[in-house]
Amino acid sequence: MSDRNNRAIAVLTSGGDAPGMNPAVRAVVRTGIAYKLDVYAIYEGYQGLIEDRIVKMNWSSVSGIIGLGGTVIGTARSKEFMTREGELKAAENLIRRGIDNLIVIGGDGSLTGANIFSTTWAELTAELEAQGRITAEQRQAYPELRIIGMVGSIDNDMANSDMTIGADTALHRIVDAIDALRSTAFSHQRTFVVEVMGRNCGYLALMSAIATGASWVFIPEHPPEDTWREDLCTRLEDGKKAGRRDHIIILAEGARDKHGEPITSAMVKETIEGALHVECRVTILGHVQRGGSPSAYDRYMSTAYGYEAVQELLKEDPTHESKIIVSHDNRVVPVPLVETVKKTKAIAAAVADGKFAEAESMRGIGWSQISELVSLNARVRPDKAPDENSPCIAVMTAGWPAPGMNSALRTIIRTAMNSGFRVLGVEDGVVGLVSGKFRTFEWMEIDHWAGLGGTKLGTNRTLPEERDFYKIAVNLDRHNVKGLIILGGWTAFAIVNRLYNARPNFEHFNIPMLCIPATVNNNLPGAEITIGSDTALNTIVEALDKIKTSADSARRLFTVEVMGRYCGYLALLSGMASGAEYVYMHEMGVNVDMLQKHTRELVQHFRNGRRTALIIRNENANPTYDLNFISSLFEEEGDEFFDVRQTILGPMQQGGKPSPFDRTLGARLGFAATRQMIKQIREKDYTCGLVGQTGGEAQVFDYDSLIKTVSVKWQRPLFQWWERYYLITHTLAILPPGAVDLDDD
Ligand code: ADP
Repeated sequence: MSDRNNRAIAVLTSGGDAPGMNPAVRAVVRTGIAYKLDVYAIYEGYQGLIEDRIVKMNWSSVSGIIGLGGTVIGTARSKEFMTREGELKAAENLIRRGIDNLIVIGGDGSLTGANIFSTTWAELTAELEAQGRITAEQRQAYPELRIIGMVGSIDNDMANSDMTIGADTALHRIVDAIDALRSTAFSHQRTFVVEVMGRNCGYLALMSAIATGASWVFIPEHPPEDTWREDLCTRLEDGKKAGRRDHIIILAEGARDKHGEPITSAMVKETIEGALHVECRVTILGHVQRGGSPSAYDRYMSTAYGYEAVQELLKEDPTHESKIIVSHDNRVVPVPLVETVKKTKAIAAAVADGKFAEAESMRGIGWSQISELVSLNARVRPDKAPDENSPCIAVMTAGWPAPGMNSALRTIIRTAMNSGFRVLGVEDGVVGLVSGKFRTFEWMEIDHWAGLGGTKLGTNRTLPEERDFYKIAVNLDRHNVKGLIILGGWTAFAIVNRLYNARPNFEHFNIPMLCIPATVNNNLPGAEITIGSDTALNTIVEALDKIKTSADSARRLFTVEVMGRYCGYLALLSGMASGAEYVYMHEMGVNVDMLQKHTRELVQHFRNGRRTALIIRNENANPTYDLNFISSLFEEEGDEFFDVRQTILGPMQQGGKPSPFDRTLGARLGFAATRQMIKQIREKDYTCGLVGQTGGEAQVFDYDSLIKTVSVKWQRPLFQWWERYYLITHTLAILPPGAVDLDDD
């Protein structure tokens, strides 16, 4: 095999479109160019390959597409590609251009097609030679077609993969629609059945049910009991009696009963209207779910996929196996294509054959636990109501508010109450803990909390001092508090630390204390993503979209400062998701050499015809080179080439409605933390810790081991998994030296 660095690659999108395909295409094209490969885009999927719609790409061919929905290179379904002649034409077109690396972004159908194409490549090229369509030399020069796939599918139905391209955006569309329906449902006391996409997979239905606090959800993997009609009506009646004014029922399009018969929205409507004599409206969300601008996650993750896909092609691969790039536990990894597609089909078959437990276990990611969460939150009263003598868990929020805190609180309160525990809310963080501002909750009063921003308990950044410990101990004793859950960022972490260290003098602090990481800064150990950071990222990315399009005819450099304290997560990930030219963050430092180099590059960039550029600065990147300094420097050096406009995004980053991910993360961590708390109280285990998510599942980390993994000075973990994205962001933003941008010729 010849040198892999001298190869040409082509990228195509195929099958159903998905938001996030464009960032993936952009990343493939620019990574390829950065590594000096010839990069081609094949327009209109496999049909375009057959029709030779193959276009050489340059750096600016993919400018400005990162925030666009759908796929700018078009997608199609091609019957012809499934015929021998279609395959022959496709192979011929590739060989004529010298392309023997193909990156396919599509669903399992498209990926299966790619793999078949690759495995029949030798036969196809032999036939092409025999027919005189290619020469013997051409056939010898291209003995193999390498395939790398990326899964573009809003359904999130691929095995071995945590999130497929487009699923997160689809959830945004669904949750926005249900939030809107909820307000009208509430006003009119109506019941809505909302049908969502997902084919054989209930992911979108289940996650949107958690995120919106739905009364019932039907998914293919978990069919209801045969008595579902009566059970559903009882749930709705009970809810109404308990004061629930609105009912949202979510139905996955592939929902079935235990006998494999489809459950349709019309059936659900008829059932409710027939039995309860109330009006029930059906909303089938349809194609809006796959439309619109990709979410922050779908932009940065697809960018990482595209970058890794090219890296994978650059490697020699003795296995000659086609691969798919997926995310697993927040890591972007290659997995074997054939085995993954086979497993995906096996899951679909298990669902179709009614082997639900098998399907659920093959899907992984604790699906059964998620279903349990949905049922818990749909209840209208606890299983066994706590009384005054029940043991008590106190819960509080500390530090700055983070979107998703209320979703976590709702789940904590209900999980504890449903297990017979009393729950007390401490208001205003440590201030309330010291002054004894405790409150109780009614089950139904927190019904709507899942989608609310901020924190319903109030919060501030006060830490407990020596003089406060006695009062806190008295309050904990007075209310017979057996465990304390604190939601928040570094403040929450520090509160647990102080109370824990004061244990030798205050025996009442000998209770389990658990921290749930909730901060937009994403700077806590034991949690790869904290509650609130996804919402902040989406808010920033939306603001950057607006800022970028605010440029008039002049040439503009936008400098934007984002939050994060000493942690560059928001700066880097928003930079990656919006195609920023440079990101300044504390972890990498800022120095004069860097600024000089960037000034030179930017001037060159604008000289080459660039109209706008974007720099993101983390608020504490460097105390000397602040935003004013950086903006003034670039303004001066930019001279006639560009003007500078600076923006500090400020507190808007902490506010607003939580994103679907923050709502579900809040619920999942709240659930895991409360179960852990109950277990520790029952076992008299007073270990303090943090319940976070590293990888797929929530985990409990004990305090003593966590504290060794952080920089106390900079208030962030010593190792941050996302720092590897720094290189990707920079590789994709600035035309590498020596690369020719054909548009500027
Ligand atoms: P998705 O990729 O979204 O699952 P499809 O299943 O419709 O969408 O596949 C898209 C295209 O991929 C098809 O129109 C066809 O050109 C190609 N394709 C799908 N399955 C195969 C196959 N078994 N063999 C060859 N090509 C296939």
